[in-house]
Amino acid sequence: MSIKENLDHINSRIESACIRAGRDVSEVTLVNVSKTKPIELLQEGYDAGMRIFGENKVQEIRDKYEGFVPDGISWHMIGHLQRNKVKYIVDKVDLIHSVDSLRLAETVDKEAAKKGVTANILIQVNVAEEDSKFGLNTEETIAMVKEISQLKNLRIKGLMTIAPFVEDAEDNRLIFRRLKELSVDIDGQNLDNVGMDVVSMGMTGDFEVAIEEGATMIRIGTALFGKRNYSKG
Ligand SMILES: *Cc1c(COP(=O)(O)O)cnc(C)c1O
Repeated sequence: MSIKENLDHINSRIESACIRAGRDVSEVTLVNVSKTKPIELLQEGYDAGMRIFGENKVQEIRDKYEGFVPDGISWHMIGHLQRNKVKYIVDKVDLIHSVDSLRLAETVDKEAAKKGVTANILIQVNVAEEDSKFGLNTEETIAMVKEISQLKNLRIKGLMTIAPFVEDAEDNRLIFRRLKELSVDIDGQNLDNVGMDVVSMGMTGDFEVAIEEGATMIRIGTALFGKRNYSKG
């Protein structure tokens, strides 16, 4: 299958999920997760219509940002971000999905100020409370959003979660529902500097369930670009 065929197939599955949920397809933004993939494949994706590329490593974003520069693309940082690396990407990415502490948010704020930009961020919530995953507990999220929203050089655009790897996507339905409910709760508080338009959840294995539960952004890699080979380093 070509990347174009993969993308067409994913788009039709997104559309069907939207129809089932009574939602408009324009409510769901696809982040094309291109991590570990070479620029030739990103170019193929671009030619097929992809514009938003998701990456999870700072060095890889820096390399691709230099080497792949077609019109109208945007980069999203979806992986865990170390504070000492924020400075390398804060002016290159349009959205950081993975802010999970006040200290990290403060660093993003400081580095954004230095570069003269406003950073768009999501707050990562570990809804499933998996030890292996980053993110805030649902209980601490609202208080953290309030604190982070005081910072002047960033804007909170919503929430993100990484659901557990499961065989049956239905097993993640309640996780997605909880993240959506949390975003509605926070939205109801009308906090300055805080928007909750973005609910980033759902990957190759479970994006349709995520859409049914209210995802406005889904992050898909494998189903578009094929399996990743990490062993080559
Ligand atoms: C790799 C990754 C994805 C994409 O996962 P697939 O299962 O390949 O679609 C989505 N979100 C995050 C945070 C990732 O690291």
